[in-house]
Amino acid sequence: MIRVLSVFGTRPEAIKMAPVVHALRDAPRQFESIVCVSAQHRAMLDQVLGVFGLDADHDLDLMTAGQSPAEVTARVLQSLPPLLRQIRPDVLLVQGDTMTTFAAAFAAYLERIPSGHVEAGLRTGDRYQPFPEEMNRVMTTRLASIHFAPTAQARAALLAEGIPAADVHLTGNTVIDALLQTVREDYTFRSPRLASLDPRRRVILITTHRRESFGPPLRSTCAAIRDLAERFSDLQFVLPVHPNPEVKQTVERLLCDLPGMYLIEPVDYLEFVHLMNRSYLVLTDSGGVQEEAPSLGKPVLVLREVTERPEGVEAGTAVLVGTDRNRIVQVASELLSSRAAYEQMANAVNPYGDGQASGRIVKALVERFG
Ligand code: UDP
Repeated sequence: MIRVLSVFGTRPEAIKMAPVVHALRDAPRQFESIVCVSAQHRAMLDQVLGVFGLDADHDLDLMTAGQSPAEVTARVLQSLPPLLRQIRPDVLLVQGDTMTTFAAAFAAYLERIPSGHVEAGLRTGDRYQPFPEEMNRVMTTRLASIHFAPTAQARAALLAEGIPAADVHLTGNTVIDALLQTVREDYTFRSPRLASLDPRRRVILITTHRRESFGPPLRSTCAAIRDLAERFSDLQFVLPVHPNPEVKQTVERLLCDLPGMYLIEPVDYLEFVHLMNRSYLVLTDSGGVQEEAPSLGKPVLVLREVTERPEGVEAGTAVLVGTDRNRIVQVASELLSSRAAYEQMANAVNPYGDGQASGRIVKALVERFG
């Protein structure tokens, strides 16, 4: 029996860990699966737990208003060790690149408990972009004992940093497992605003929340959206507004009066997946959305200057447009007016996974710790 403690704290971590936790729970003779949430982002985490029917066995409940990355780290390092000493897992699993990811892996290291890193090996090579995620990934790599790389490039990055090949498993990204387990064609939106979208008009879905986007880049993205609305009269724009005040105040000020604009509260994962499915085009600075949208055949314009996910750009599912107003308008206009350009992107193969990643992770855990 392998005792696995999964620790996560934010919405994207929970989405990407949910299929792993379910896969562990589906093998009760091999695993004892224990879940601990840091609740770094309380409300958005709880939404995901609800959608996936997950209960946390332990809840550090450490979110505070205006918390800094250092404060989150300090709180995880304070509250997790007593739990680790009590549970003594055979392995601790973390996912991705948040302060919870790094701090939990570090706490495990200090207790001499091995940790496994899900979605290991993503790199931009720029220590400040994305910030602080790039450094969290690098440090989690140093701390972890077993690494689950979503793509061949991520695996190569780990090997290039000296991680032994035997410790690296190429699994695909669990985000695709979650997506394929969730999406269905006969879905009806629960949100009255989303249910009121005009079926004859195309939907552009926008998400933006990264620190690097705050200020001028976000204002430039908003200007590009206004330009597109002027050029194409059949568009509806849906923007689930991230609760960060930097995002909320800017988009509300610059976009609230735009006809066809749906500024909505962040929606739960179930609604969001089907919103992606309903969309024609996705504009995003999110990591997870870049990975998901291609599985639904939706071209993605990435609102970032650099990406740690170059595979989508290389496969032709995404274009790195940055936040320059003219560039966004130019690339989006091409896809909105040329059927051939659109089809080429929509039909490109998603390089991020086939929906079987969690099964591969579970198998690797059995081989290593069984
Ligand atoms: N998502 C969601 N509701 C929303 C926006 C996004 O459930 O209103 C999901 C989306 O499907 C993806 C994840 O949240 O799986 C992405 O999270 P986010 O963009 O916050 O973080 P990142 O992926 O950039 O780390």
